[in-house]
Amino acid sequence: MTDEQTFQQVADHFRETALLEATSAMLEWDERTGLPTRAGAYRAEQITLLSGMIHRRKTDPHIGELLERLAASPLATEGQLPITASIARLLKNFHRNSRLPIDLVEATSRATVLGQQAWEKARASDSWELFRPHLKEIFGLRRREAELLCDDGSLYDALLDQYEEGAKSEELTKVFASLRDELVQLVQDLQASRHPPSGASWQRSVPVDRQRKISHWIAERIGYQFERGRLDETSHPFCTTLGPDDCRILTRYQADYFPSAFYSTLHETGHGLYEQGLPTDWYGLPPGTYASLGVHESQSRLWENFIGRSQPFWQWAFPQMAPMSDCWQGLDAQTLYRDANRVEPSLVRVEADEVTYNLHILIRFEIEQALLSGDLPVDDAPQAWNERYEHYLGIKPPSHSDGILQDVHWSAGLVGYFPTYTLGNLYGAQLMEAMQRELGELDPLIAKGQFQPLLSWLRGTIHKHGACYHPVQLIENACSQPLDARPLVKYLRDKLTPIYEL
Ligand SMILES: [Zn+2]
Repeated sequence: MTDEQTFQQVADHFRETALLEATSAMLEWDERTGLPTRAGAYRAEQITLLSGMIHRRKTDPHIGELLERLAASPLATEGQLPITASIARLLKNFHRNSRLPIDLVEATSRATVLGQQAWEKARASDSWELFRPHLKEIFGLRRREAELLCDDGSLYDALLDQYEEGAKSEELTKVFASLRDELVQLVQDLQASRHPPSGASWQRSVPVDRQRKISHWIAERIGYQFERGRLDETSHPFCTTLGPDDCRILTRYQADYFPSAFYSTLHETGHGLYEQGLPTDWYGLPPGTYASLGVHESQSRLWENFIGRSQPFWQWAFPQMAPMSDCWQGLDAQTLYRDANRVEPSLVRVEADEVTYNLHILIRFEIEQALLSGDLPVDDAPQAWNERYEHYLGIKPPSHSDGILQDVHWSAGLVGYFPTYTLGNLYGAQLMEAMQRELGELDPLIAKGQFQPLLSWLRGTIHKHGACYHPVQLIENACSQPLDARPLVKYLRDKLTPIYEL
């Protein structure tokens, strides 16, 4: 067999594995959009069965041998980038997955499906007791996984690497600390302002059927292809990909708080645009897969915040949106723009403004590191949570639902995932600067609703490369600079200073 034929055989194997993974994702999508309440346990069995089948395929010793052979062949060094990157990534994943026994993989799958179901109930009834045993089990399983994966580094980094390849918690802690100091100062400066935006325009009630129409409209206007996706409703917005031409976004509507759905939709559409921009002919292999969760999050933040909360965006959007509902009578674009940038320490991460958002992430980053290492017992987690909210944000959660039970992540086993949100904000700011350097002033384009040049730039610098580069390298190639907190701080200060008349 030639090296090319061996590569083809390996590629076919992983494309077929992707069919199973997409099937599992379909079951999870269904679970979070309309599963009958009593169907949960059976669904957990379905997903667990698939996870075992997927794991066996990923750790098939024959495929491991073929990958080793390819890694030693000229194809691994002299082949085209998508091929060399595929060989390197697939082999790394093979070695990692091979360290995990199937009983652990299946136990984690079952525990996290049941954990999410328990979390839904616990959150609805504000019951920490209902969720506590699940969280204990999930952190126990993920600790065992981290112990199997990590050689001498930190347990946390072994999990973080699955979401953000190459990231180290020690480095992130430093970057986040400098960001935290700047943001805490900025929040203080803003709170001293005598001209804060009131936020009143966003409090106007907008009927849900109007909001649905607006959500579809804005997703389509920024470039989301509905013939390759759809927009549905759920309790915790997300985006999932079920095939090369099937990327789905989900949002949630609150009649009395319009920005919730509007900005969730923009956010998830940003994720969707990235997925729709990946090379479809490489679906199931690294070149057809996103680079990292931090990079993914940079794409959602770009559309949600850097573009969607900008002045030119509202100059364009408001006259288009006003006729779609009579709720905004007497308002203007400038008022909506100012209110979209109101900064106020709050309890719930997904509703947080751009400045305090990263403080919410920092709290989770600290707590999950302590839970994983065992420094913080699960029983004490709510107290640790509440103390940090008081310390960083000056507020005390009145309930667990708005406290430690607010996020789905830990119930789904996603430990080491949260820092990728702040990474996304940092990357987003760097990408906006780079885009501006290369395309010239972006404001006139945004003010006319001409988003295509922006999307094309993202397609060319980020989307089309899939996971051919490590995330750090990809961002450096796009921005000509390594990870840096300063562009984000500068962006926030530059925008908020005139709004708050500092
Ligand atoms: Zn996101």
